[in-house]
Amino acid sequence: MANINCVGILTSGGDAPGMNAAIRAVTRSAIYNGLEVKGIYRGYKGLITGEVVPFKTNNVSNIIQQGGTILKTARCDEFKEPDGRQTAFETMKREGIDALVVIGGDGSLTGARLFAQEYDVPIVGLPGTIDNDLYGTDTTIGYDTALNTIMEAVDKIRDTATSHERLFFIEVMGHDAGFLALNGAIAVGAEAAIIPEISTEVDQLEELIKNGFRKSKNSSIVLVAESEVTGGAMGMADRVKKEYPNYDVRVTILGHIQRGGSPTAHDRILACRMGAAAIDALLEDQRNVMIGIQNDTIVYVPFSKAIKMDKPINRDLLNILRILSI
Ligand code: ADP
Repeated sequence: MANINCVGILTSGGDAPGMNAAIRAVTRSAIYNGLEVKGIYRGYKGLITGEVVPFKTNNVSNIIQQGGTILKTARCDEFKEPDGRQTAFETMKREGIDALVVIGGDGSLTGARLFAQEYDVPIVGLPGTIDNDLYGTDTTIGYDTALNTIMEAVDKIRDTATSHERLFFIEVMGHDAGFLALNGAIAVGAEAAIIPEISTEVDQLEELIKNGFRKSKNSSIVLVAESEVTGGAMGMADRVKKEYPNYDVRVTILGHIQRGGSPTAHDRILACRMGAAAIDALLEDQRNVMIGIQNDTIVYVPFSKAIKMDKPINRDLLNILRILSI
């Protein structure tokens, strides 16, 4: 059994719906197991500046349904420097924090890995990102909510696209990963998804034009993953305007709306399970692992794998999208 009395918890990097449900789960599981909990505000920044507050069960009441993160989140360049991490470690010692639960994306887990190595601190990570781009877990906290937000928004855009018989390129987030674009495209019945994972293999725009869009329909919706590789929705629209001026093209960038909103049941349950598993892992003396769920089973994924390995897209989905858009 690990020698841990007090767990610090923080959210870092891009926020994601379900982070609050995860904070609640970590806090209550820790208290249930007889541990103290301290909430660290503004991610690694708060660990450096000492924004630390003792958490009881009522600090996390009534937050399971709220988007965002009550602990706030931040990007913190100081933590990338050795001096910053040393100050963070001093805060931990002063506050009596023996272990950390870090909820965030690949950047946050990269920082956690480095910190854990340098100071021999037990850290467990929870995958909190709408992008779903962490290896070792079927989905990440926030991904399902963002997918549903995309679906609702694109359903509305379809009404106007159809009325005007337009081609819409709709850019969704993803941080150079195509999960939101591909699954969002299937969920809204889009023509196609343009995703970075296959951009070196095929010219996706050429394919789209070659297929003549959906012949039986008078409008077209194409979801484009934000990406420097593809140039995003703007890049696609510019190309169409130049190469195929007869198309009436419009661009919508969904933007930060995708980060907000009350988490779906899927994300809440994921966050509850992962949060409880984080405390189990620490008590089992696990360290420097991210909690994942694969095939409905909790798994411990070493930080090195979660961050470094590429999570593949399911290529069957590309085929389904192609078949269903005839
Ligand atoms: P996300 O966790 O959503 O991917 P970022 O990439 O912005 O978000 O990372 C969040 C924070 O994690 C950074 O602001 C920084 O404090 C920390 N971090 C990211 N990369 C590193 C690194 N290489 N070394 C130390 N800390 C890092």
